Amino acid sequence: MIIKNGFITDPASGTSRCADILIRDGIIREIAENISAAPDETVIEAGGLTIAPGLIDTHVHFRDPGFTYKETLHTGALAAARGGFTTVVCMANTSPVVDSVPVLQDILTRAGSEKIRICQAGSVSKGLKGEELTDMEAMKAAGACGFTDDGIPLRSAAFLYHAMEEAARLHVPISLHEEDPSFIKNNGINHGPVSEKLGIYGSPAIAEESLVARDCLLALHSGADVVIQHISSARSVELVRIFKEMGAKLHAEATPHHFTLTEDAVLEYGTLAKMNPPLRTEADRQAVIRGLADGTIDIIATDHAPHSAEEKGRSITAAPSGIIGLETSLALGITFLVRPGHLTMQELLKKMTVNPARLYGLPFGEIAEGRSADLVIFDPEEKWTPTEYLSLSSNSPFTGWELYGKVKMTICGGKTAYTDHSFSQI
Ligand SMILES: [Zn+2]
Repeated sequence: MIIKNGFITDPASGTSRCADILIRDGIIREIAENISAAPDETVIEAGGLTIAPGLIDTHVHFRDPGFTYKETLHTGALAAARGGFTTVVCMANTSPVVDSVPVLQDILTRAGSEKIRICQAGSVSKGLKGEELTDMEAMKAAGACGFTDDGIPLRSAAFLYHAMEEAARLHVPISLHEEDPSFIKNNGINHGPVSEKLGIYGSPAIAEESLVARDCLLALHSGADVVIQHISSARSVELVRIFKEMGAKLHAEATPHHFTLTEDAVLEYGTLAKMNPPLRTEADRQAVIRGLADGTIDIIATDHAPHSAEEKGRSITAAPSGIIGLETSLALGITFLVRPGHLTMQELLKKMTVNPARLYGLPFGEIAEGRSADLVIFDPEEKWTPTEYLSLSSNSPFTGWELYGKVKMTICGGKTAYTDHSFSQI
């Protein structure tokens, strides 16, 4: 396969140039101008389009096993490929929980037949109860890429500290959902003017900040690679900034919804704007963007959280938290970070490719000779409107928005994982 005339943007090397890419046996063999095609070569004409490393999402929920009416490994993989993702990391809050080698192996075996790479995190605690540590060493040996009890926080600092020590010993990241439930009356909605208008108490920023402060300190002491997941408050961003300067090996994820929306979205989109941690104030949103711009936040992750229409059709207090994100993530980044000038395209892509790859020790996220041909081809200027999804669920507040940046083709290991219907080939 040869991809011709694309604008290759590789954030790992910091380079951008127009060239052809020759792919053989799933590997990038040559990057040069005017590579001539063999007679039976598949040629993809990418003139005017950007080619980036296949995107990597470190935070998705494919709901499989246990909640396959919301998403399956297969539909999740289709949604990911359409969004330009070639690698995703699934969270462990399935049913059963991914807290043992057999559950992990079942997922990884089934994931192997999908067209993208599905990595699986193990849970930190058995049954997500925060009491008994899982056998992290055995799960890592069986293929777990990291550990997290995402969905709920780890309440005991001493327990988490022990888990961080184990993660540091095993050289795997440990990722944390930071919301202390003792502060929260109704989750998914920021405690503030909007929750007051709705007549509920909501989830105050201190619920997140108090755990972020504690866990930044634990990260500093333990030396583990600690990921603050879906960071949402200005003070949380500042805490990560300070503790990174002190030497903690901290990382932070921002979601597209937290850099795009504020709590006001709840009034417009109802349960489609309900997520944990919640959308907060404009000052918080701006702080997340500043954190992305100055490198405090090194990863953009979707927290792709499918729920059925029936579930999201319940009342604001009864509906589950979370929205899908894989199919709109790149476009939201281009529309709300790159076009307004907060990040360059290279900076955006860095947080969606090489940064997550390096954190998880994955040999992907770069466009270079000898690397796996994991690529996304997209038009950064094309306007489009999401109206339907390949995800099994469609719980997104961004349906009907006009966005910039359309994925044309996703290639994983040299094979086509997604082709947009508008992408006609010569
Ligand atoms: Zn979470």
